[in-house]
Amino acid sequence: MKHLSILGSTGSIGTSALDIVRIHPDFFQVKALTAANNIDLFSKQIDEFEPELVAVIDEEKALELSRALKGRCRPEILSGEAGYMEAASYADSDMVLLAMVGAAGLKPAICAIESKKQVALANKETLVMAGEIIMAKALENNVSIMPVDSEHSAIYQCLKGNQSKDLKTIFLTASGGPFRQKSFDSFKDITLKDALDHPTWNMGHKITIDSATLMNKCLEIIEAVHLFDVTHEEIQVIIHPQSIVHSMVGFKDGSIMAQMGQPDMKGAISYALSGPDRLDLQMDFPDFIKLQSLTFEKPDTKRFPSLLFALEACRQKGTLPAVMNAANEAAVCAFLEKRIDFLDIFKLISKTMELHTRIDNPDLSGIIEADYWAREKVKSWI
Ligand code: MG
Repeated sequence: MKHLSILGSTGSIGTSALDIVRIHPDFFQVKALTAANNIDLFSKQIDEFEPELVAVIDEEKALELSRALKGRCRPEILSGEAGYMEAASYADSDMVLLAMVGAAGLKPAICAIESKKQVALANKETLVMAGEIIMAKALENNVSIMPVDSEHSAIYQCLKGNQSKDLKTIFLTASGGPFRQKSFDSFKDITLKDALDHPTWNMGHKITIDSATLMNKCLEIIEAVHLFDVTHEEIQVIIHPQSIVHSMVGFKDGSIMAQMGQPDMKGAISYALSGPDRLDLQMDFPDFIKLQSLTFEKPDTKRFPSLLFALEACRQKGTLPAVMNAANEAAVCAFLEKRIDFLDIFKLISKTMELHTRIDNPDLSGIIEADYWAREKVKSWI
């Protein structure tokens, strides 16, 4: 039996994780839940899974939740950063699923690691911002970080039973998003609705926009650098529109291991929570006869400069990855509010990265300061 704290339970990853818990009550028990916005869904989750600890983002949401629960038997409602820290370090939990969106996941991630919890990490922004600090802390506290990202879960699974010294190349696959075949001339006409219409994966808004810009793949390169202790030169991004191969690992003898499955996040979430045990998820295998072919393409960095941002951030390191991530988050937020165009996202990230005075080997406060600086810069231009 695994005891879970789920941070970000009402998002796409959080709800899928609870679907898994629902079909395997013999395997998991939910001890703590946190959510930021969807109080209606959150109150239903609390009723169903009966966690001992719940936390929301602020006092106002705490009141809203208290009203939604109508005084039914429930745990105390915590709010703010302190509440998230309590959930991340809750004594009765042995595993923390970090499924919050964006930079907000950084402090709870560190708190969970310092509390020696097993960590299932869905929040890639955390590793992009502070990968060196997080991996060093994980090592120091003897904490294993299980990737929830489908590509990184695939790489992790492919590496199992092999020696990391034999690894030569990581083939990081990408669906290519909804604009894979769109001409650059028509990028200026892309609407929010177009960008939210992902061809293969069903995900939250922020990551869906990141997939449309390929910023998701940019963040995933940096995530892989930290998780698997490789350089960005050892990672090759390949566009694979069918999203059946979730990623591959090439070894020095020329052999390649691929992990495949339906494009459904439940597989990766479940493996992160229960691996090496594999739970029955009642999922069909891909129908290879129907699919007929799996195709692979080279990414186009002229239309999607995101991969070049990743290379620059990996080359320069220091505070630059955090700045790139924060500029992206602020730009995506403005795009979701229809305040900027699709192409502005690239322009704002590029401009912010160019203007930043990088600091080498920053500590946590240096990273948080750089993150704040980048958000303010983007806001001042919008
Ligand atoms: Mg992914």
